[in-house]
Amino acid sequence: MKTSARFLIICLMLMILYPGCLNATLVISRIDEGEVTISSEYRRLCQGEIVKISMKSPVPVSAALSFDGKEYSFVPDSTKLKHFALIALGLDMEPGIYDIIVHLESSRGVKKDIPFKLGLSAKAFPSKRIRVARCFTTLTSADARRIKNEEELLSRIYGKSSPCWMGNGRFVMPLKGIMGGTFGEQRVFNDNVVSRHRGIDIRSPKGTPVKASNSGEVILARDLYFSGNTVIINHGISLFSMYCHMSEIIVREGAFVGKGENIGYTGSTGRSTGPHLHWGLRLADDYADPLSLMHLSFD
Ligand SMILES: [Zn+2]
Repeated sequence: MKTSARFLIICLMLMILYPGCLNATLVISRIDEGEVTISSEYRRLCQGEIVKISMKSPVPVSAALSFDGKEYSFVPDSTKLKHFALIALGLDMEPGIYDIIVHLESSRGVKKDIPFKLGLSAKAFPSKRIRVARCFTTLTSADARRIKNEEELLSRIYGKSSPCWMGNGRFVMPLKGIMGGTFGEQRVFNDNVVSRHRGIDIRSPKGTPVKASNSGEVILARDLYFSGNTVIINHGISLFSMYCHMSEIIVREGAFVGKGENIGYTGSTGRSTGPHLHWGLRLADDYADPLSLMHLSFD
């Protein structure tokens, strides 16, 4: 069988990936020097999940990836033969078949695009009614100004990621505790403010140490109106983890923290109904379920 026919059959067989599939090979493509293999790793292929795309090439290459109108960087290993990228399946994405294109460039400057498909299935998110202090649903003009300033600050921060990967192996849970609010649930505060829960809640007694889920740079460590005492860690390639409602923060903005390092203590500051940690994850403008990241290898 001709190579082009074999390639076409492999592409057709692997066009749609089914939920629950780990380390699925997506596509094998040929370049002059040999085969490029692209595979994926994920918990589920539905809204709010992170997917890892891995690539092996026979010669050193640099690579980027286009998906859903966004560009993602690949992280090379020291040989530049193995690379990985993380992509976010956004909460607002419609279920369906999506195109991904890997853009390769060899050290000799030869470019090649490798296209393939990813199937996204629908997920049902629960709804919850929550009562909080009135100051969180009826804002004064001073509160509204503060919130606007904080939103602008966060937008500046999220626009400044590093192209280098700062993580160190697999991600770890920031603390042990009982799972409370789930990612993506619809929340109605005091019967009149609706929002989407963009993280998970881990209930734990006030004062429990909170650990960095992976290494990175502390890009924010301050009190915010809704999320209270908040730490945001930049792990590189536009991936940020956030730790909210803490009673105390013990790291400074600009510091580098190692995986598992204590960054603060649980509390109930900001818009909160009791001691817990809100643990969030953001990748390239999309919020994702941090638990989906726990299923990915980073060896
Ligand atoms: Zn929360």
